[in-house]
Amino acid sequence: MPNYDFQCLECGHKFTKLVPLQEKDKVRCPECGGHVKQLFGSFGFAVKGGSGSCSSSSSCGFGGFS
Ligand SMILES: [Zn+2]
Repeated sequence: MPNYDFQCLECGHKFTKLVPLQEKDKVRCPECGGHVKQLFGSFGFAVKGGSGSCSSSSSCGFGGFS
């Protein structure tokens, strides 16, 4: 049975609950009984490819002058 992270939409309470997949939509906040949304882990999602990425070596500036 997987662990899911939830946050209450009413009071903001965050909690982790062990629920079967089919019970996920029925989860309510243990504090106030309000509706909750599922929080997804931050793994792999927060990829910032903005400034200063040197993954492509040709445009890195080191040894590029011949
Ligand atoms: Zn709540």
